[in-house]
Amino acid sequence: MSCNHHPDLSTLLNYGAGSLSDALAMVVACHLEACEHCRHTVTEAENIGMALLKEVSADDMSRNARDNMLAMLDDHAIEPPAVVIEGLQKEGDIPTQLRPLIGQWFADLKWSRVAPGLKQFILPASDGKLRLLNIAPGTFMPVHGHSGSELTLVLKGSYSDELGRFRTGDVADVDPDVTHQPVADTHEGCICLIATDAPLRFKGLVPRLLQPFFQL
Ligand SMILES: [Zn+2]
Repeated sequence: MSCNHHPDLSTLLNYGAGSLSDALAMVVACHLEACEHCRHTVTEAENIGMALLKEVSADDMSRNARDNMLAMLDDHAIEPPAVVIEGLQKEGDIPTQLRPLIGQWFADLKWSRVAPGLKQFILPASDGKLRLLNIAPGTFMPVHGHSGSELTLVLKGSYSDELGRFRTGDVADVDPDVTHQPVADTHEGCICLIATDAPLRFKGLVPRLLQPFFQL
């Protein structure tokens, strides 16, 4: 699969350094399953981080602290990508990173209806910060802005907004100043994995009324 939209470099570097929130890191991890380009970037960043840390002299940092950091970077080393074997694809349509949490198939999840054409599944133990959205073909999402980072990974279908068209495997790495209105493309519905590290800011009365249903 070749992706057209990737996480920002700073997002990948923070992922490599283990400094993203769990929710944001999960979205990056799922994208890395599909994107060799970003896997390469993260590996390079980790190697550079290791090299820099090894240069740090004992005067600047206690030996213990340095060893701890090196061990931590090691822990965050990327697992080799799951080898996708054609026949095994049948075992589920949910990314392998998410399967221990929610199972194999999108169809088996207990989706809750948020609005016409819009269903949501909040991941357990994610404190509401990691959700799947299931958007029926042609459905417009409410216009919204963000108080913090939002990372969206398309898991099925595609959607378009002011920033472009996002297909399966693509990531939208949205800055706090962006206001956008995604619309699912018409031929098939769209399922996205979305991580936020701060509440969305909905514009307009109706979307604000929807906010409680998003549990934000
Ligand atoms: Zn990528």
